[in-house]
Amino acid sequence: MSDDLGTVKEFRRRRKVTWDRAKLWLAATACGIIGMALLADVDSNSSPERFGASIFFFIIAGISSVRVIYIVQANYRCPVCDAIPTDGGILLGSSVGYDEGIAVNPKQCSGCGARLS
Ligand SMILES: [Zn+2]
Repeated sequence: MSDDLGTVKEFRRRRKVTWDRAKLWLAATACGIIGMALLADVDSNSSPERFGASIFFFIIAGISSVRVIYIVQANYRCPVCDAIPTDGGILLGSSVGYDEGIAVNPKQCSGCGARLS
């Protein structure tokens, strides 16, 4: 039981570190995506300023999203087995499938089953 509490406490600490390091990069990613959406109609006939701005927002979104991925990969891990907690969900849409992503608030580790919250 005390090991469980230690694992939960350490995972919470790691999750907080991840959030503290990633939040500004997430904001930059959002700004880049919004900027790209606002300039979605840019083509070869657009002004150089609009074209440059669309490239700028594209680069901001790309660099910041890669940085977020790096921060999550480096910090958001199970204290017991070092796996990134994931969860899956059934996808319904044009096709039916199963997709696995990073669990934002996992109750237990998907790798070893350790209690994380
Ligand atoms: Zn684990």
